[in-house]
Amino acid sequence: MVSVSLLPIASRIAAKKGELSELLAYPQERLAAIIQEVGFRCDLCSRCCTRAFNGHVFLLDRDVATAREIDPESVEPAPFPEFCDQKGTFYVSGYALRAKDDDCGSCYFLENNRCRIYDRRFSICRVYPYMLHREPDEQGNVDWRQIAGLDQHGEYHTEIPEIRCHEAAAETKDYEIACIRQEIAFLVCMQDYFSQNQLRHVQKIYDDRMRAFARGEEIRIMVFCNGRLEEHRIVHTR
Ligand code: SF4
Repeated sequence: MVSVSLLPIASRIAAKKGELSELLAYPQERLAAIIQEVGFRCDLCSRCCTRAFNGHVFLLDRDVATAREIDPESVEPAPFPEFCDQKGTFYVSGYALRAKDDDCGSCYFLENNRCRIYDRRFSICRVYPYMLHREPDEQGNVDWRQIAGLDQHGEYHTEIPEIRCHEAAAETKDYEIACIRQEIAFLVCMQDYFSQNQLRHVQKIYDDRMRAFARGEEIRIMVFCNGRLEEHRIVHTR
């Protein structure tokens, strides 16, 4: 099977639209029941706010505005850009939260193991560890996943009021829908931008420029945000 990331943009848009339809059809009550059954409770270990545990924190467009308002330095182009054109410019679907240069890559906003902007934390921080997307398991079987890091953090089988389970299910589904819509908007933008500017993705240039980036060379990267591409020039920092 061809990896989705290697498909032409039009096919990727179609695949994402298919994912969106499946997500919209997923019964919210089923997610609420799983949330109740798992009974997850945060034990304030703060591991989920580190790159060592969770990779990067991808931000929805609406969260980028909040993050910039709190501190413009808190966001950076998300890693793993989706495209690189024949001139060596990368393209990525959004921003991520910057991480500190400590051993575990703590979130920019994590201080003394607590979130210093907790009341204004971002969509993903509010719904985590709940999720609702299809992923392959260790055997490669693709199915829905609803909880991230199961049994690797927090407490389980605690009592969660039914109303809270429904609220968490609604917030999680809303977040996942917004994520896919942002990805589709990015892909549509790229399709138009590449066609208007006679550009195309070239995997070899992608790989060469990534290696140069890892060696410390500056790269140019365009970040999709609120329907437009924002230009950055970045160097590898960790
Ligand atoms: S913004 Fe707060 S809750 Fe979100 S990852 Fe950073 S420290 Fe954690």
